[in-house]
Amino acid sequence: MSDRNNVFLYYTPTDEVEVKLEKLKELGREHGLTLVDDASKANIIASIGGDGAFLQAIRKTGFREDCLYVGINDGRLGFYTDFNLDDLDGIKAGLQSDMVEVLRYPILDVTVDGNENFHCINECSIRSNIIKTFAIDVYIDNIYFETFRGDGMVVSTPTGSTAYNKSLRGAIVDPRLASMQLTEIASLNNNEYRTLGSPLLLNKDRELVLKIVQDGNDHPIIGADNEALSIRHSHEVKIKVSDKMIKTIKLKDNSFVHKVKRSFL
Ligand code: NAP
Ligand code: MN
Repeated sequence: MSDRNNVFLYYTPTDEVEVKLEKLKELGREHGLTLVDDASKANIIASIGGDGAFLQAIRKTGFREDCLYVGINDGRLGFYTDFNLDDLDGIKAGLQSDMVEVLRYPILDVTVDGNENFHCINECSIRSNIIKTFAIDVYIDNIYFETFRGDGMVVSTPTGSTAYNKSLRGAIVDPRLASMQLTEIASLNNNEYRTLGSPLLLNKDRELVLKIVQDGNDHPIIGADNEALSIRHSHEVKIKVSDKMIKTIKLKDNSFVHKVKRSFL
């Protein structure tokens, strides 16, 4: 990691965290790292907190491809947080290049109504914001596929597959499979409305278009990971697996298989 030495710490300051960070900063200095207070000058961005903090660190710094993102947890280990603030030995190991592996995580490119572009590393979700259902016409590669009516739909990345997607009974997907998965939130299925009903895993070169049927109940909330978009009236959401990827590091003995097992079994 010799060519990477400017570190930006992304966290919510509290007295407790500040105390713990002193030791981390000291360790960084000993290893020739420089702390920067402007994320744009960093080539390593470390989030302090849970997976939610990691999601925010990436979003707030613009999904940078020229940066290494590192998740440092302040409690239990998560899916994006490979290191623990209380385990300085683990972090020390992370500073030795032979102990770590660089991972590349697929993300999504989302376009709303042809002009609003953003990325997601967990998922893009579209949910009704009222008690009534709403409808979505689903197109895959410009082919009409189905009309969904219900609470909403979620399109997740492989790393997002263990989050919202899992609660919707979607499959857990190995992050080495650049792909996206479409799952339903409480679809109506009867003689009038019919959807696939099972999660659909699509290859990275597919294009998914979700057209919100404009029938009066057409103001769903669009979510990008843990943030709701401010757009309140949209017609069409186009989703693709991005050509960009997010780089992160992990200790060699902490693979995706370890994480799934540790969290769920
Ligand atoms: P939150 O509501 O505080 O978090 C929900 C939980 O999901 C937290 O335990 C969080 O871990 C965990 N999580 C986040 N990303 C994960 C991942 N890739 N794999 C496994 N677990 C993950 O909100 P948040 O912490 O900001 O996280 C946002 C995410 O929550 C969304 O992207 C969505 O995936 C998920 N979510 C799930 C549901 C549901 O399951 N019904 C509904 C809405 C949103 P930490 O505690 O380490 O942060
Ligand atoms: Mn959280």
